[in-house]
Amino acid sequence: MISEDIQYYIQGVLAQDRLIIAKTITLIESSLDSHQVMAREVVDRLLPYAGKAVRLGITGVPGVGKSTFIESFGLFLAQKKHKVAVLAVDPSSQRSGGSIMADKTRMEKLSIEKNAFIRPSPSGGTLGGVARKTRETMLVCEAAGFDLIIIETVGVGQSETAVASMVDFFMVLMLAGAGDELQGIKKGVLELADAVVITKADGDNINNAKRARREYETALHFLNPSTLTWTPPVVICSALQMNGIKKIWDIILEQRRKLTATGELDEKRKKQAVYWMWSLIEEGLKERFYTNPEVKKHLSQILRKVEKGEIAPTKAAEHLLFFLDNTQPV
Ligand code: GDP
Repeated sequence: MISEDIQYYIQGVLAQDRLIIAKTITLIESSLDSHQVMAREVVDRLLPYAGKAVRLGITGVPGVGKSTFIESFGLFLAQKKHKVAVLAVDPSSQRSGGSIMADKTRMEKLSIEKNAFIRPSPSGGTLGGVARKTRETMLVCEAAGFDLIIIETVGVGQSETAVASMVDFFMVLMLAGAGDELQGIKKGVLELADAVVITKADGDNINNAKRARREYETALHFLNPSTLTWTPPVVICSALQMNGIKKIWDIILEQRRKLTATGELDEKRKKQAVYWMWSLIEEGLKERFYTNPEVKKHLSQILRKVEKGEIAPTKAAEHLLFFLDNTQPV
């Protein structure tokens, strides 16, 4: 049941009431127009209380060890009295299963930790829609006092770019071993990385991990560092043995210190806010187009005419866009 009272959500989130935090996120994720209007109002009013957290993005192929890493990392920080929220962007996820990240069975220890909060990816919809909801959820969590927000994603479509554009630090997890060395070079994901972490550096795999570290160091050397202030390091880590966890946290803090000192962190967040606005506009325009009653009425007929060559694509596009300017909003 979604409460109608905006104050209920705002005060509940600010009072760090977990039930109301969860309900606020449900409101954000709802597809009902009336809920969306309320959610926008709630997020807008919470905005002044948000922005203080460390925003960390994590990506890697399924099986690389993301959930194991996030659990170890999250527990390490929760024990240091940090409040950790774990969110996800998984455009493949559906209410009825099918999620690549299968959130519910993961991170069992972290999910019962009182300083941690885990929320699965919003389900269904376009990447833009899923990313928007996760971004708004991040702001809600920040207003609720979480000081580390981890946003996890798998390399589905452009989801890595979407997550990298909402965090302060973007980390790419990599497996060491046969043929895996180049896995991150696809789609330029390494260019987004503020650090590369080689996972499962334990047992027989340690030497492989060290070799992979050298290879990635060379690969990163040829890519531009994300800023003049920061050269992305490559670290090896065993989440199972808790090796490398503290080092990674220290790296994140060091990057933060450096980028804060030069003003780059501020700049990055400003750019991200503008980028976010543009992506909302693009999404909104598309939505308006596809839900426009005249467009709906004529679209399939015009498409057929374009296919048959009876009308030029330019003319067809002009015709369809004309409906946007000349239909009263419903
Ligand atoms: P995800 O799909 O990226 O979330 O990967 P998981 O965290 O579910 O890990 C996939 C598999 O790798 C599981 O069987 C884990 O137990 C294993 N794994 C994860 N981290 C480590 C590690 O640090 N060392 C070892 N040896 N195995 C690990």
